[in-house]
Amino acid sequence: MCTNHQRVASEPITTTISSVPLTRIARPARWSRRQVLMNLGIGTSGIAVLAACGSDSTSSNGTTAASAPGTDAPAATNAPAATDAVEEVAPRAAASDELRLEHVSLGFVSAYVLVRGSEVAIVDTGVSGSGDAIFEAVTGLGLTPADIRHIVLTHNHSDHAGGLADLEAEATNATVSAGPGDIESINTGLPLNEVTDGDELFGLGVVHTPGHTPGSISVFDTDTGLIVAGDAINGDNEGGLTGANPDFTPDMGTAAESVAKLAALMPSIAAFGHGGPPVADDVAAKLAALG
Ligand SMILES: [Zn+2]
Ligand SMILES: [Zn+2]
Repeated sequence: MCTNHQRVASEPITTTISSVPLTRIARPARWSRRQVLMNLGIGTSGIAVLAACGSDSTSSNGTTAASAPGTDAPAATNAPAATDAVEEVAPRAAASDELRLEHVSLGFVSAYVLVRGSEVAIVDTGVSGSGDAIFEAVTGLGLTPADIRHIVLTHNHSDHAGGLADLEAEATNATVSAGPGDIESINTGLPLNEVTDGDELFGLGVVHTPGHTPGSISVFDTDTGLIVAGDAINGDNEGGLTGANPDFTPDMGTAAESVAKLAALMPSIAAFGHGGPPVADDVAAKLAALG
């Protein structure tokens, strides 16, 4: 069960930061963001976010192979050593609503830095002690912790929310968002914002994806087809996708419904907590096949 997530104090946090190019994709005009969100509640299929986005090389997606005991991390295999490399570092983004995704590998778990213009959203914070790695990703983009406006916790497990305390001292302009059922147990000095289906933040739609925990949420960008799904889905370190990890998911039936809910969005890029860098090919089909 996930309730006994603990960081192993002696395990170093190794970090690799890599960029995933996000390409704005055309969607038929009849599908507005609002319609997408409204339709989430009834499991609409065939939402027309069709074009796949390319992925950059993931050759340096180093993660430590170790999976800390007591976490819901599937063990990585064939993972190269972390390099601390920062790929494709861009100058401070010009004023724009285009979305940029940075994958921050923290060993057995990932955090994500999303950038629009000069504003930053962090999705998941890793285990306690991950703050420096996340800040490194932010400053590597020419931005500062003060530019962080949102910290989204996909769920309140310590390998996703444990780094929150590291961030809050410097990310003083941030609001912490999480789902109902998980947010109640999150302790922070920053403002808390409960979000669920139909809500938007940072230009992203919120998708309630329970099962792994009652309050698990994902976020979805209709322009690029990106989903960041926390532990609602997992990677297999080889570009494949699996559902929630049954070893750490108390309600697998609900979790399967959440996977179907994400598949119905026809996502193009899937980012998740465990099992490798984001996947950017055949994502919708891979998710649908899990049903
Ligand atoms: Zn996890
Ligand atoms: Zn979890």
